[in-house]
Amino acid sequence: MLKLRALFEKMIIVNSDIVLSVYIDTDPTVVGRNRSAAMIWLKDSLKNTRKDISSGLQKEFDALQKKVLEEAKHHISTGKSLIMFASADFFEISQPKVNVKNEIWWGKPSLGQAEWILEEYRNYGIVKVDSEKLHYYIIGLNEVIDEWEEKIGEDTLAWQVKHLKPEAFLREKAIPGLRGGDQKEIVERHISEEVQKFWKSSSPAIENIKKSFGVKEIIIAGLDTQADLYQKCISINGIKIIGKITTTKELNINDFLTSAQNIIKEHEKELEKKLIDEINNKSGGNAAASLGLKPALRIIQEGRASTIAIKHNLDTILLECRDCTYVLPNDSVECIKCSSKNLRIGSMKSLLPPLLRKYKTQLNIISHHIPEEIIRHDGIGVLWRY
Ligand SMILES: [Zn+2]
Repeated sequence: MLKLRALFEKMIIVNSDIVLSVYIDTDPTVVGRNRSAAMIWLKDSLKNTRKDISSGLQKEFDALQKKVLEEAKHHISTGKSLIMFASADFFEISQPKVNVKNEIWWGKPSLGQAEWILEEYRNYGIVKVDSEKLHYYIIGLNEVIDEWEEKIGEDTLAWQVKHLKPEAFLREKAIPGLRGGDQKEIVERHISEEVQKFWKSSSPAIENIKKSFGVKEIIIAGLDTQADLYQKCISINGIKIIGKITTTKELNINDFLTSAQNIIKEHEKELEKKLIDEINNKSGGNAAASLGLKPALRIIQEGRASTIAIKHNLDTILLECRDCTYVLPNDSVECIKCSSKNLRIGSMKSLLPPLLRKYKTQLNIISHHIPEEIIRHDGIGVLWRY
């Protein structure tokens, strides 16, 4: 079983168009649905999907369908959702702790929903600072998805133990400004220097978090003075420190994570407000932004959209041209690019993210500040690149 991001990274490089993609909501708390209903939906949808498949590929489809149904039986009674990708070469499965929209897709792996979720529940990093160790947490999809520690070198630790009494060693040993005799001050200064060297050496680890987990924002946690000093020690490119958690010795991990979630929420609210204000201001008069689904689809596919903001629970039906993959509003009768009438229905969550990736448009899902003006325009606004 893969974490969603790992699954996404694996599927994005798949170059086959004989893949069966399945997203099923299995959340038993969703009103009016239950898990046996999910299984019935899956069977029916597979049957419907098979009707559109050319007879040459039906044998392959049947084998994948069998595998999908078998695995679904095992996993459908747990979790909130079930995501599967099946082909002759691989079978991948993930159960993120978030809801998905039911979807069956035959062709290239359908990664839109996965990408949508990864944007809506962005990963954040927390670095818990201590003089002997740094504890890294990666938070995503409402849980700690990874954590590990880095410890200061054995030599430095041994040196500290030799020169400092245990009781002093347990106090805030690394912090300059402790009172004491000359000898003690020298020792402490040395330790402080060593600790800061250790902290400085963590900068590449943080940059790595960005690479491995897509983290762009981190929170620093620790005793007040240490967290501040740590912040001065590290140099990180393209990663923003969005808050600080003051910890105590008796740290309760749940309280700690709640504090982190609150910081993240405030940070997201602030970003949203900035973006929405910008779209609102620019969409009037001298048009450097547009509101509404139709202009958004057009501007994106002209390569002119830098950023799109979408109301969080929006899920409109769209159409994709089977011949040229142009994406259209659902009232279209033919492709405006190639005039083909061979159109395929898909949800916005499936069709839009791949389009945004192709045209390098940043997706922003807006949950807090949604002005009337934007709601009236399909809950969508885009900022122009030019
Ligand atoms: Zn077309």
